[in-house]
Amino acid sequence: MIPVTRPYLPERRKLDRYIDGLYDNARLTNGGPLVEELTQRLQEYLGLSNLLLVANGTLALQVAYRVLGLSGEVLTSPFSFVASASSLSWLGLKPVFADIDRATLNLCPHRAAAGIGPRTSAIVPVHVYGNPADCEAFERLAVDRGLKLVYDAAHAFGVRHRGSSVLRRGDASVLSLHATKLFHTVEGGAISFRDPALHHAAREMIHFGLSRGEAASEWVGINGKMSEFHAAMGLCVLDDIDFICEQRAMLWRRYRQGLNGWVGFQQRSPDREGPDSYAPVLFRSESELQRVVRRLQARGYQSRRYFHPSLDTLYGNGRCEHSRDVANRILCLPLYAGLDPQEVDRCIEAVKGALA
Ligand SMILES: *Cc1c(COP(=O)(O)O)cnc(C)c1O
Repeated sequence: MIPVTRPYLPERRKLDRYIDGLYDNARLTNGGPLVEELTQRLQEYLGLSNLLLVANGTLALQVAYRVLGLSGEVLTSPFSFVASASSLSWLGLKPVFADIDRATLNLCPHRAAAGIGPRTSAIVPVHVYGNPADCEAFERLAVDRGLKLVYDAAHAFGVRHRGSSVLRRGDASVLSLHATKLFHTVEGGAISFRDPALHHAAREMIHFGLSRGEAASEWVGINGKMSEFHAAMGLCVLDDIDFICEQRAMLWRRYRQGLNGWVGFQQRSPDREGPDSYAPVLFRSESELQRVVRRLQARGYQSRRYFHPSLDTLYGNGRCEHSRDVANRILCLPLYAGLDPQEVDRCIEAVKGALA
């Protein structure tokens, strides 16, 4: 079976050398040198300054919400992974869904504006499949209405928009560094802050709220640290990031050429540059999609209904017709560095066969 995704595994001997170092110095966590090195290298690679590495992406979202002082209701996208919304409800914040744009599949700023109420404290747009949200519109909205702006940028590692990293947008942008993401640390997450003071406060917050390991600060704390083992994996994967991005771009081009005219595609921002994290294709109906899933399965290809169902159906709040419609018709095809291009060709043939 060809999986829909496969975590990238760097050269084993390189990882072993880092692990040998950990055995020698016995510094396994709590702000060790590898987390520091990975932070510096990622900031350089991504073109950022206030990056904080965290234990996972969900916790990274929650730390961003806490340090920004969110309360009450938060407007977000119903077309996303469940963590976009569950990270809010876990903190007692209420996710309020506004519908997406049918072409870009991102949260629509006009519909988000219409959903703002007296208890709204923030907007959390998602750069779905790494396609930048309408950042200018959300920034105007946030400033005009006095709201915080946090991007769920879990799919946007390395994505640039109008020449600069999309992770520089908003009060904070959050990455997931989970094993299935383009760049990973096994489990991990990161927050890019605009304000260095918030970066500093969040760093204390993920270390139990302790300041320099001693006096408790004013912040509520949690343990959200990344370990040295996880950073070691990240350093090895980062060495190979160009290869990973090239492979995915090549495979995604192949899908697009092979399926052009057969399926629909997300409309990408023309000002976007950067890697492809997923291979999403749109069918005309859910029954067409189900036919394709069965055909792929029979030929030995896994696919994934990412994202399904639309989150507004789970939380019973709001009714987002575009998101529900897209969620019923979208499917992600296998895409990962190391996938044989001939498998992509066979996958394309299977999709066409099911549609013919
Ligand atoms: C993966 C993902 C997350 C959660 O990240 P974890 O590191 O798995 O906790 C959040 N939002 C989106 C859109 C994701 O794809």
